[in-house]
This record gives sequence, structure tokens and C-alpha cells, in this order.
Amino acid sequence: MAADSTFEVDDPGTGAIVAAVSDGTRADATAAVDAARQAWAEWRATTPRARSEILHRAFELMHDDIDVLTELIMIENGKPEADARGEVSYAAKFFRWFAEEAVRPGGEFGEAPGGGSRTVVTHRPVGVAALVTPWNFPAAMVTRKVAPALAAGCTVVLKPAAETPLTALAITRLLARAGVPDGVVNLVPTTDAAGVVSTWLQDVRVRKISFTGSTPVGRILLQQASERIVNSSMELGGNAPFVVTDDADLDAAVEGALLAKFRNGGQACTAANRFFVHEAVVDDFTAKFGAAVEAFRVAPAADRGAQIGPVISKRAAVRIEEAVADAVASGARVAHRTPLPSDLSGYFVAPTVLRDVSPDASIIQEEIFGPVAPIVTFSTDEEVLDHVNSSEYGLAAYIFAGDLRRAFKLAESVEAGMVGINRGLVSDPAAPFGGVKQSGLGREGARDGLLEFTETQYYSIDWS
Ligand code: NAD
Repeated sequence: MAADSTFEVDDPGTGAIVAAVSDGTRADATAAVDAARQAWAEWRATTPRARSEILHRAFELMHDDIDVLTELIMIENGKPEADARGEVSYAAKFFRWFAEEAVRPGGEFGEAPGGGSRTVVTHRPVGVAALVTPWNFPAAMVTRKVAPALAAGCTVVLKPAAETPLTALAITRLLARAGVPDGVVNLVPTTDAAGVVSTWLQDVRVRKISFTGSTPVGRILLQQASERIVNSSMELGGNAPFVVTDDADLDAAVEGALLAKFRNGGQACTAANRFFVHEAVVDDFTAKFGAAVEAFRVAPAADRGAQIGPVISKRAAVRIEEAVADAVASGARVAHRTPLPSDLSGYFVAPTVLRDVSPDASIIQEEIFGPVAPIVTFSTDEEVLDHVNSSEYGLAAYIFAGDLRRAFKLAESVEAGMVGINRGLVSDPAAPFGGVKQSGLGREGARDGLLEFTETQYYSIDWS
């Protein structure tokens, strides 16, 4: 990189500086596109089998390196070991899934209805793709984009979040060891996100933007992409409802709630953000859920027994505490709160369960992105659907109900891209991940994820 300055990366669990990384400039952004464009001719001409084998090697190498990658995520993101290890394993599966998809190019051949011609439909790699990723899953958000892009025959320029560049750097090196040629994956860590990404969006050689992050930044990038009508995939913010009906298995609902809310300390776009619990079971549910929350061990990731780590920054901790204070000021009650050890020096927020929250409270309307669970009570399915669909977000939703038909009926009326039914986890590389409304455009994972990096082309062939 041309950059001669660096930026610091800290450990959110302690606040200590752990690394200095080259701070990419607009010139580095352009140099990355130069390399990606030059490598594209050769990369797109490789056989699907060759690309597949490289991605398979990347999957295996990620498992060989799981201890190191886990440690890197723990250090720069702060998540506990089990969450970090789980993320590496999940991230690696995108390499395996897209290694398998790479050799299934699909396409169609058919007779035109009027006769006289035949139609061949095919999917061509879109070209150089710009990838922009967030800090909350420093490995999985990278592989969920890089793997389908490479499988499709694209080359990429990649900007990881400035909070978590180390894991992305390690994955880039691993890809070189797996056999990815120079210039195919080009990483630009930077604190000038706006400068680097706008440089890419203005560059005629960049044909695709795939972004994961907040809705406000997604909106800015869509505006910039509109100048050149750049093909855009957007995985944006969420505000997942978690519905517990009166006939739900409460133990299963509590287990699902702990996973949907507290995995990654609540810092997931799919995190349950607002709980709607039927009035007949709300006391029992809250008592069981709250008891489990109070028993959490909150500690820096270096403490191997940690279950809940820090949030990403001091600013995030302050924002979440303010959201809780605002909810309490407007009538909510703190029902359960995990006591925090007194010797913590990082950015910690006590896991909290709020009761009697108004469905109109701002903590219900906005993404919390932290370990706080606000509970709203409801009495009918119609009422809960009104609450659920009142949000402008529509990424994930969770429904716990005993009667499966009732669960399905509710799910069909929920405005969300993904619905967990009696399950607190929806992510799977084989499933199409993505949202509706202001949660995004397009899907990642599944077959859909590969098609996002292609353009459909058809040939009309004379058959007279
Ligand atoms: P963010 O939008 O602040 O940042 C995401 C990325 O965009 C980072 O790489 C950042 O450096 C970059 N960025 C910031 N401002 C930019 C600008 N003006 N121009 C270009 N790039 C810019 O989000 P975050 O705080 O890193 O992540 C949390 C958000 O991401 C949450 O809203 C969460 O729901 C969302 N998210 C969504 C998904 C999903 O798949 N839908 C997955 C994970 C996170």
C-alpha cells in the first residue's frame, strides 16, 4: 500500500491498543482496482472446477488456522471464545458451500414460443466487485461475500471495518495460500471509509457493490451507486421481533431467546431486538429468561469462561445505556440485570431484561445492537402482527408457538426476509440470508448469493 500512516486497533475488552495497521488512501483504493481489473481476465477464464478447488482449500485452511483466527477475533472484536470459534467455523462454511456451487453453473436452453429460434440463458461474472464489511462478524461477513464473488469468477476490492481489519488481513493471506492468484482479492483497510468506497463507486471498472452495515450508510452508498447504476447488494440493519405465544414451549422459547438475543452480546443484525410475549405466559417467560441472564459471566474474551463480552466501543456502550435510561423514563421496568464485576476496564454493558415496555418506545423502534431485551406484552395474534410489522426494518423474526399451523400463519404475515420458527438462529450458508423493507436488497448464501455476483445474459439462436 502507498499509505505511510497507520491507525490503531484496540481490544474492546480492555481498551488496550493491540495493533497498528496501514491506513489506506484513495490512491490505494485506485491501485486495488488496477490490480483487480488486471487479474480479472485470467480469473474469469479459470475453470469452475479450478475455482472450486481453491475455495475448498480455503475451507480446509480456515479449519487448520481456527485457533489463530479465533484469537484474532477475540482480540479485535472482543467476543468470547465460544462465539469467536463458532464464527470461524460458520465463516469457513461459506468457502465450502460456494466451492460446491461454483461447479453448478445452471443456465437454461429453450424453444422460443413462436418457433424459429432457441434461447440460451447464462450467468456471467459481473466484473470487479467492491465489498464493504462491518465489525460484528469480522470473518463471516468477509467470507460470505468473497466466496461467492470468487466462485462466480469476479475479482474483488475489499474494505473491512476499521475496528476489525486483522481478521480480514489473515483471511486474505490464507486465500493466497489456498491458491488465489495475486490481484484477485485486494484488501484496503482504512479509516477513510467514505473516501475509499466513493473512489470505488466512481471508478467505471467497478461493476458491483456488496455492502453489509447500517441502513444509513447503505442509503448513502445506494445514492452514490445510482450515478453509474452500479449493481448493488445491501445487507442492512435489523430490528428482529421475537414472539412467544400462549401455547409455546417456554423452555424452548427461553433457550431460543438467549441465543437470538445474547449471541455475540446482542451485536448481530439478526439479534432479537424486541420481545412480544403473550400476557398469559409473560410472567413465567420473564422469570426463566431473567434467571438465565442474571447467571451470565460477563468478562473480557481473555477470560476463557466469558459468556458475554464487551460491546465494540465506548460510544456504543454509552448509546445503549442511554436507550435503557430512555425506556425506563418512559415507563419500562428493569426486571433483571446481570451484576458486572468491578474490575472491568473495557466497554461493557450489563445484560438487561426490561418489562412493561411500550410498543412505541424508541428502544423498540431502533436497533439496540447490545445485550438488552425489552419485553412488550400482547393479547391477540392480530395485535402482535401490527406491532411486528410497524417497523421499517424487515431482516429476521422469531416465532415460538406450540401449534405449527399458527406459527406458519403468523410467519406468512410477518414482513421479514427470514423467520426462525421455534428456533433462535436463522443463519446458514445454504439458506438465502437477507431482508425486506429498509433491511436491504438481495440475498447472501444459498444459490442466490452466487447469482448476486453475476449478470444474466441470453443468446437468441436462429433455428430456422
Ligand atoms: P456501519 O454502517 O457503520 O459500517 C459498515 C461498514 O461501512 C464499515 O466497513 C464502515 O467502515 C463502512 N462505512 C461507514 N461509513 C461509510 C461511508 N460513508 N461510506 C462508505 N463506507 C462506510 O455499520 P457497523 O456499525 O460497522 O455495523 C453494524 C450495522 O451493520 C448494524 O446496523 C447491523 O444491523 C448491520 N449488519 C447487517 C448485517 C446483515 O447481513 N444485514 C450483518 C451484520 C451487520
